[in-house]
Amino acid sequence: MVAPAGNFQSYPPASELVALNAGERPRFWVTIDTEEDFDWSAPFARSGFGLDSVPALAICQQYFERAAVKPIYLVDWPIVQDDRAVAILGDALSGGRCDVGAQLHPWVTPPHEEDVNERNSYTGNLPAALQHAKMTALRDAIVARFGIAPTVYRAGRYGLGEDSAAMLAELGFRCDTSVRSGFDYRGGHGPDYRAAPRKPWWVKTAYGAVLEVPVTTVFGGLLGEAGRGVYHAIARNGMHAGAALARLGLVERIALTPEGIPAERACRGIDIALDQGLPVLNFSFHSPSLQPGNTPYVRTADDLDAFYRWWDVVLAHLAARGVEPIDSAGILTLASRKAPPA
Ligand SMILES: [Zn+2]
Repeated sequence: MVAPAGNFQSYPPASELVALNAGERPRFWVTIDTEEDFDWSAPFARSGFGLDSVPALAICQQYFERAAVKPIYLVDWPIVQDDRAVAILGDALSGGRCDVGAQLHPWVTPPHEEDVNERNSYTGNLPAALQHAKMTALRDAIVARFGIAPTVYRAGRYGLGEDSAAMLAELGFRCDTSVRSGFDYRGGHGPDYRAAPRKPWWVKTAYGAVLEVPVTTVFGGLLGEAGRGVYHAIARNGMHAGAALARLGLVERIALTPEGIPAERACRGIDIALDQGLPVLNFSFHSPSLQPGNTPYVRTADDLDAFYRWWDVVLAHLAARGVEPIDSAGILTLASRKAPPA
C-alpha cells in the first residue's frame, strides 16, 4: 500500500536517504523528551502529574556543557508552563548552549476535546483539526515563553499521523524526530516503525519539506542485520521472546538510550551504527529520569549515578571513534545536500 505524499510513514528508497560523503565522520545528537513526571504504568490523565524533576534539568545541562555537547530539549506543554524550566532552559538557550524544540503529549495539551485513553495518547490518532490546534497551541506557547519559533518536533509516544508532516511544515517546523526505527506500537494503537530507515530523509509537503531524523535503534547479535526480521517475527509473541533471542546472542535490539540499555551494549550499538554509515546517531531519554523515582529506569540515587556514568562511558566511546556532537542547525545543513527543490 502506498501512503499519501507528505507522510512520514511512506519511506523513500535508499538512494534518497541523507548519507555521508566519502571520508566524512558521523555525528551524534542528544534529544531529551522534556516533560512532566507521571506514573508510566497508570492510565493517561489530564491532571495529577508532577514537575519535581524540573530543577534536575540544570544539572543535566551542566553535565552536557562540560562535555561540550549541545542537547535539544523537546519541551511539552506542562514544561513550557513551568517558570523554573523556562528559566533554566531559556538561559542555556540564549547562551547558545542548548536547543529547544517541541514535544506534544496530547493528553495534557489544550484544547482538551478528546477522551483521554491510550488510543488518543498518540496525537496522530486524533481528528486532524484537533491535532492542528494542539500543535499550534504548543508552538505558540514556546514562542511566547522562550522567544524562539521551534523548528524541531517530536510526537509524544512517537505518535505521528498521516497529516503530521504537512501540519509541521505549515507551522514552521523544519525537522521531525518522532520515527523510532525498529519499533512497533500497533499493540497500543500507535504507529509501526519496524521497516523505517535509520538515515534521515526529507518529506515533501504542500508547505515545504520537513526532515525526518529517526531515533536511532540498531540490531546486533549473531544474525546481524537479518536479525531485524527475525526479531519482529518472534517478538510478536511478546517481549519475553525478544529477550530470549538476546540471551542466546542471536539478535538484540539496541536503542541508543541510557534507559534500559547498559553502556557496553550501547557502545556496541554505536559501532554497528557506524558500520552502517549512519550520518547522525540520535540518542534520546526522558527528563523525568533525571530524578530518582519517576521512570522505570531511575528508581534510586545509585541509578541516577549510573545514568551519568552511562553518559561518561558512551561519550568517551564516541570521542574514541571520532564521532562529534551536532545540533539541529548542523543537521539541517548536513541534510541540505539531499533537500528537495522548494
Ligand atoms: Zn514524552
